[in-house]
Amino acid sequence: MMLLHNLKDAEQVVSFVEAVKVGLGNNQGVFFPQSIAPLADVDALLELDFVGRSSKVLSHLIGDEIPQSTIASMVKNAFNFPAELVKVEENVYCLELFHGPTLAFKDFGGRFMAECLSVFNEGNKTTILTATSGDTGAAVAHAFYGKKDIDVVILYPKGKISLAQQKLFTTLGNNIHCYAVEGSFDDCQAMVKHAFLDDEIKQRLGLNSANSINISRLLAQVCYYFEAVAQLPSEQREKAHISVPSGNFGNVCAAMIAASLGLPVAKLSATTNQNDTVPRYLASKEWAPNDTLESLSNAMDVSKPNNWPRVQFMLDNDWFNYENFYSHSVGEDETKAIMQQVYDNGYLAEPHTAIAYQGLKQDLASDGVGVFLSTAHPAKFKESVEEILNIDLAMPKPLADALAKPCLAQELVNDYQVLREQLLAKLG
Ligand SMILES: *Cc1c(COP(=O)(O)O)cnc(C)c1O
Repeated sequence: MMLLHNLKDAEQVVSFVEAVKVGLGNNQGVFFPQSIAPLADVDALLELDFVGRSSKVLSHLIGDEIPQSTIASMVKNAFNFPAELVKVEENVYCLELFHGPTLAFKDFGGRFMAECLSVFNEGNKTTILTATSGDTGAAVAHAFYGKKDIDVVILYPKGKISLAQQKLFTTLGNNIHCYAVEGSFDDCQAMVKHAFLDDEIKQRLGLNSANSINISRLLAQVCYYFEAVAQLPSEQREKAHISVPSGNFGNVCAAMIAASLGLPVAKLSATTNQNDTVPRYLASKEWAPNDTLESLSNAMDVSKPNNWPRVQFMLDNDWFNYENFYSHSVGEDETKAIMQQVYDNGYLAEPHTAIAYQGLKQDLASDGVGVFLSTAHPAKFKESVEEILNIDLAMPKPLADALAKPCLAQELVNDYQVLREQLLAKLG
């Protein structure tokens, strides 16, 4: 059985199910596996299909706390869309992770987390309460949509997120309850924090945050790194250099776990935008976050990456060699120039993807084989992509469908007591 320890309190050791339910540990510490046993048969696993292989990888990681057949059905439900490897240049491939319902890689982790919580809550009433500045709300809403005994409450700042982003979650209805708050994202987040300190609300609604720190998300993300290597020509597999556009460093953390399991990952690049706390830290050994800057790649606008302790733990304990880990930052002008260059070469990359491409090109050895991750569909960043590349983008079907539906969100004043009454009346 997998045991996880709190990276801020080594005494706190929990099972996978507990870690998923609790989310964050004592002193706001994150949970991480105490050890990871390598897989015995990576080559054979690489021959399997995505869902079959992912069930085996997750069963190996999680162990016997959850029956294999349960994991297999959770994986089948969660991963009902592909991860596609596309050749972009000689020896350079893009792993497209945006073929899910909200067109971003967060669908993989979000959907598996939803499966976990609905299996582990055993019929107890659960309310997922979250604030969103854009992407997370959509991924969480779609992942939990229609799940029995689970309600989702999403707060977002009214008028401050794009219409496409907003309509991806406010049009669902059913067990997804959305509030357009007259305030900023920080106001929304403050109300969420307030609710988690309110014992009566916590108790009566069965509050859970389902946030990005949840270990179930990371384990789910491990699976698509196996898929990337599986789709490489077999003679290139040993040389894979993977580049991950990084904000909270969860995605690259999953890549390192995959390597610890024995997946051949020769090198890893975790490339940031101008929010460059980690690249500066690796160069100077000093952790000195600056104020967060708004960027084209806004899902990576993070200056205190909450998964960094997990990455640091693996590097410090030689689960992955420091020498094979790179982290550069790519500025705004450079991001635009790279988008143009990639486009001229025949591939359309939105800003996050362009940053991963650039990180790879900086670090890739002349005989290496590179895989950069595309974490979002270009249409999710339609405004900036169209402006920078001077093109018109078609809306993919999930976005076009959502835009055509009415918004079901309720407006809410920025006042916790009002939210509290609403929640008790609706869900208490
Ligand atoms: C969340 C996100 C990232 C950053 O991933 P982390 O796991 O936080 O490093 C990159 N690109 C997109 C499109 C995202 O939504």
